[in-house]
Amino acid sequence: MTDSVKTLCPYCGVGCGLEVTPPAGSGRATNRDSQGNPIWKVVGDRSHPSSQGMVCVKGATIAESLDKDRLKYPMMRDSLTEPFRRVSWDQALDQITQQIQSVLATQGADAVCMYGSGQFQTEDYYVAQKLIKGCLGTNNFDANSRLCMSSAVAGYIQSLGSDGPPCCYDDLELTDCAFLIGTNTAECHPIVFNRLHKYLKKNTRAKLIVVDPRTTKTAEAATLHLAIKPGTDIDLLNGIAHLLMRWGKFDTFFIDECTTGFTQYAEVIRYYTPEVVARKCGIRIDHLEEAAKYWAESENVLSLWSMGVNQSSEGTAKVCSIINLHLMTGNIGKPGAGPFSLTGQPNAMGGREAGGLSHLLPGYRSIKNAQHRTEIEKLWNLPENRISSFPGRDVWRMITGLETGDVGFLWIAATNPAVSMPDLERTKAALLKSPFTVYQDAYDPTETAAYAHVLLPAAQWGEKTGTMTNSERVVTLCPKFREPLGEAKPDWEIFAEVGRRLGFTEQFNFKTSAEVHREFVQLTHRRPCDMTGLSYERLQQEGPIQWPCSIEELKQTNNSLNNTTPGLFSGLFKGKDEKTKAKRLYTNWKFNTPDGRAKFVAFHAKGLAEIPDAQYPFVLTVGRLYGHWHTMTRTGRIEKINKMHPLPFIEIHPKDAERLGFKEGQLIEVRSRRGKAQFPAMITKAITPGCVFVPMHWGALWADDAEANSLTHPESCPISLEPELKACAVQLVAV
Ligand code: SF4
Repeated sequence: MTDSVKTLCPYCGVGCGLEVTPPAGSGRATNRDSQGNPIWKVVGDRSHPSSQGMVCVKGATIAESLDKDRLKYPMMRDSLTEPFRRVSWDQALDQITQQIQSVLATQGADAVCMYGSGQFQTEDYYVAQKLIKGCLGTNNFDANSRLCMSSAVAGYIQSLGSDGPPCCYDDLELTDCAFLIGTNTAECHPIVFNRLHKYLKKNTRAKLIVVDPRTTKTAEAATLHLAIKPGTDIDLLNGIAHLLMRWGKFDTFFIDECTTGFTQYAEVIRYYTPEVVARKCGIRIDHLEEAAKYWAESENVLSLWSMGVNQSSEGTAKVCSIINLHLMTGNIGKPGAGPFSLTGQPNAMGGREAGGLSHLLPGYRSIKNAQHRTEIEKLWNLPENRISSFPGRDVWRMITGLETGDVGFLWIAATNPAVSMPDLERTKAALLKSPFTVYQDAYDPTETAAYAHVLLPAAQWGEKTGTMTNSERVVTLCPKFREPLGEAKPDWEIFAEVGRRLGFTEQFNFKTSAEVHREFVQLTHRRPCDMTGLSYERLQQEGPIQWPCSIEELKQTNNSLNNTTPGLFSGLFKGKDEKTKAKRLYTNWKFNTPDGRAKFVAFHAKGLAEIPDAQYPFVLTVGRLYGHWHTMTRTGRIEKINKMHPLPFIEIHPKDAERLGFKEGQLIEVRSRRGKAQFPAMITKAITPGCVFVPMHWGALWADDAEANSLTHPESCPISLEPELKACAVQLVAV
């Protein structure tokens, strides 16, 4: 193959289009890595509607990771103390099938668990749901989106009646006020930030409010930076609402016609006076008033958030509190406005569509809904009541199930929990207890492989064909453009093969990923994420397409690519986005609730799950850096990125450093109630006094004793079950 191929970046949820050109033979002009291997050329795809040719360092260097440290063959061992031996696919799959059958017979289906990933393509996700939830009859499938986006999912469902970010990236260039809370967009979603930043530079009347305890690259660009104390987000959000209420700056028409619950909300926000909020958040009253003034005076407010909001023991409450502000001011379903969660992983959105969390079913359906279960059982040709009515184990309950012996079989794919889970020492001890763990990944070594009995080599980016959905609901077809290394196979093919060996030949009679996709989109028919108008053929011919995209709409327009259904009130916004063809949800101000109205879901602030005290006086917050991706499985193998970020560090404010006698670069031991880790000190005013920051990327493979998650705790949001990875109490000691 010599032509260039259009595909999607497999890192973050921005979902930038890439154009990949194969290495030009063995000529001297060919780019090569340090081992002399030819490197595929990767540039931004100018025709991709989301990224318009832009790309960050991760996307630009992705090809360098394709051949390094790949897991090429199935491997097995009888115990975790033995070395792995190479086996055939038949041997590995027979062993897996026998283990599942044995656990089904002795412990029942609920002792079988699978932990998947937002790195999956939608087809991988879908076949895994069919295997675990449909054929085996347990809902024990969870994905690393649980650690990432599940609070956004829960918040959208509570407030708007279903999941699905309502906005599109074009709103970045149409807003009068961007309200960024709990997101270091400049480093973690760089191309979204590039679009916003370019627009703000040209449109100096538009405002950027950034809410973050750190002065991040994002905060540096802000019109107003509110460096609130960690855990006070709801105080701030309710405090802004209090002022809007006091000033009469709310949208009575929208509230009356399109929402419920405003009276209860008004009762809650009554308590959040500027004096109380400023004191609790640690900010100035005039700064709080300025933020509320921007909300009040802007015609269109766009909120963006990511892990700083979601990874919290009150994550769903924070998301609902953001949405409440949008409902109060009518800032939803119109150009440049709305609550917009930025997805972490490249295809967490596709996972949500395919039902890839332990309480979901495909097509934005719920395990708890009997009608939803019946619809899926029929489409999967399974007996009535095959799908359990009980939500499965979220990933933390998989870990505790290993501790108690209730989990007898664990299948982990495309994720690295031995770095990314909270309370890492406890997680690792539980993984050691697992009677049987399958680990399916493209790379070896990884930290999690050390806890596996079977390793299965997965085909990765460019080695299989499938679809991915980015944060603005744009679906991109990612074609295979090179052969998998060694004996690696696409994830969905591995799941389907195990399904067939378990006797479900009819259910897994797929020959291609296109067949999987065709079946999957049928399950979205007349659902909020309707994709029945999407096919591989159409995606190939027309390029990336945004959902909703129903077969009815396709027939009606015959060429409905990017054709927006006019909203009931769209006349109100005429002129604002004439250039924009992207779709946003709720343009008719009809929501997915039974009465069609959005709900004010009011919460009082609770604060951090673990409050600093005399013994552990600092709040540790963790986050990501511009170049590295999650647990560095790919980026740790890319020279340019390693040079950019060679080592982890701890940010500490000069006042705290002086008080404790710490010097720049000095090794600091950070201790929490659960573990400890060591980092060189970076003394900077970017962090608030009383807080420290460490990056979360480094696992045991890359740095000794510098695992951020040795320190974090697993307390989670009671609604979304997303752990509070973002904050815990620590003490600091010079080494
Ligand atoms: Fe890839 Fe995200 Fe960078 Fe875009 S912003 S190139 S999707 S990592």
